[in-house]
Amino acid sequence: MQLRYRYRLDPAPRHVAALARAFGCARMVFNDALRARQQAHAAGLPFPTDAELSRRLTLAKRSPERVWLAEVSSVVLQQALADLNSAYRNYFTSRSGNRSGPRIQPPRFRSRKDHRQAIRFTRNAYFKVLPNGKLRLPKIGDVPVRWSRPLPSPPSSVTVIRDAAGRYFASFVVEADPAALPKTEPEVGIDLGLTHFAVLSDGRKIDAPRFLRRAEKRLRRRQRDLSRKQKGSHNRDKARLRVARAHARVADARRDFHHQLSTRLIRDNQAIAVEDLAVKGLARTRLAKSVHDAGWSAFVAMLEYKSRLYGRRFHRIGRFTPTSQTCCLCEVKDGPKPLHVRAWRCQGCGAWLDRDINAAVNVARAAGLAVTACGAQVRPGPTLAPRGEAGTPPKSCH
Ligand SMILES: [Zn+2]
Repeated sequence: MQLRYRYRLDPAPRHVAALARAFGCARMVFNDALRARQQAHAAGLPFPTDAELSRRLTLAKRSPERVWLAEVSSVVLQQALADLNSAYRNYFTSRSGNRSGPRIQPPRFRSRKDHRQAIRFTRNAYFKVLPNGKLRLPKIGDVPVRWSRPLPSPPSSVTVIRDAAGRYFASFVVEADPAALPKTEPEVGIDLGLTHFAVLSDGRKIDAPRFLRRAEKRLRRRQRDLSRKQKGSHNRDKARLRVARAHARVADARRDFHHQLSTRLIRDNQAIAVEDLAVKGLARTRLAKSVHDAGWSAFVAMLEYKSRLYGRRFHRIGRFTPTSQTCCLCEVKDGPKPLHVRAWRCQGCGAWLDRDINAAVNVARAAGLAVTACGAQVRPGPTLAPRGEAGTPPKSCH
């Protein structure tokens, strides 16, 4: 199973210059090949094959106007061609095959102004993690790495990325062997909600951590600032960079939170069930933005791959499971409720039900997991909770 591990790089000015050159050369090779294919297409000629493009690259390096391509690792240039090939492959597949997936655009020319610049080194480029912790990149140098966690095994490739905020990262691909964790008893259903990030069938409600919410607030402020700046002004450029930095901080904080929470859930539970997000039907509403911000799909993807990696069961509950309409105690269905109704009395058994926990229990049940429903019952109370309230604590179960 292939996993990506990403680390921040601290390149010295000489590395930054060499990387800029490598980004530029990779872009040029990519664009030359794209142009060759477009011209062949326009002239009604057969598409130049991958091998033909590769041969042309070798020739280009000997020509005087492309001679500086030799200053960059040839693997980086070959990988730029490989990127173009896979971009075309994806495009043709999406055009010919099923139409249900997202429409993929044909490859576009890369620009120096693109927010993300990247080059890739494969194993035959002889990149190396040195004993002193630096990353040796051919024709770039030994770049310091912030090892936030250890690499589990030798990487098969590394992509060096410069993001919109001007930060550098190394993203390693490693082959990880699935290793089952010791067996455990609990099974859990998860409702991904709007009032809380996640609600568990055992009655726990999990919010995004404060540092993440603070970073999100700062990002919104920066975006407002940016929209007020004059187009094309120097101040707008500065504001744009501040937005990019705030964005990067939010993305990092969110990824950390998702990693910590998914690891904890996988460690503590033998089986996990979540509702398929498309089913929530929120993506098309005006709640779509907050749904997006919550980053659920990235979180669910983490739960899924970690389940495979650590030998846990993972279930995605599909359509037609009305999780918020059915009482998880007596299974009486009493119809849809507007989103602001956070708790209600069941028409069947008279229990006061917490909307989110009830849904989480139903998700677990729909997946056939063994969970109790005791967490879903709450004390009767006002259904409109004050802002920032942490939720009703689950009643103990006897
Ligand atoms: Zn009931």
